[in-house]
Amino acid sequence: MRLGVYGGTFDPPHLGHLVAASDTCEALGLHRVLWVPSAVHPLKAGRVRTPPALRLEMVRAAIAGDPRFAADDLELRRQGPSYTVDTLRELRAREPAAELFFITGADILAELHRWREPDEVLRLATLVVVSRAGEALSPSGGAAARAVEITRVDVSSTQVRRLAAAGKSIRYLVPEAVRAVIERERLYRDLSH
Ligand code: ATP
Ligand code: MG
Repeated sequence: MRLGVYGGTFDPPHLGHLVAASDTCEALGLHRVLWVPSAVHPLKAGRVRTPPALRLEMVRAAIAGDPRFAADDLELRRQGPSYTVDTLRELRAREPAAELFFITGADILAELHRWREPDEVLRLATLVVVSRAGEALSPSGGAAARAVEITRVDVSSTQVRRLAAAGKSIRYLVPEAVRAVIERERLYRDLSH
């Protein structure tokens, strides 16, 4: 089984994430993509982050109905933020026969040298970096990773949070089911940025 692992804060998940995961699935013939919301420091950059349970709920809402996608809370169940290497080790133990593909954007890959046990990460999984056609990869990443060209939908979680904070529409940037959670919980209303 070819198993994609898509890590992120997903605060909130948006259409850029969905198109990236879908295109990667197709390009690499993945059977499944596990979406793995990461634990983050609760008071990072001076703002209170969305509780993990709500980020998980939004990921589940975003991917519902696509049988290729599943959400996994393994990083949320651990104490404190996780290292990618630990996540991949856990998945390898759980699915010994699976070939793992760790999916990242170019922004994450550029930090590879700062990861814990990067050689072990590369041994456990094929790194996949999603990029727009023509987008440059960092030299360090270029050597280690497999590049997949995706249709880049130019939206970020930061942008969605800012729009919501300003009382502007986030419709069509996130799935309707995600928008429903954001409205129900009144998320991102009190952002200072
Ligand atoms: P933030 O603005 O809070 O940083 P984000 O939109 O970058 O959020 P993350 O949860 O940080 O979302 O990203 C998870 C993964 O998705 C990362 O590997 C990131 O590079 C990738 N990603 C984010 N936005 C897009 C997009 N529009 N298209 C493709 N990949 C994306
Ligand atoms: Mg980001």
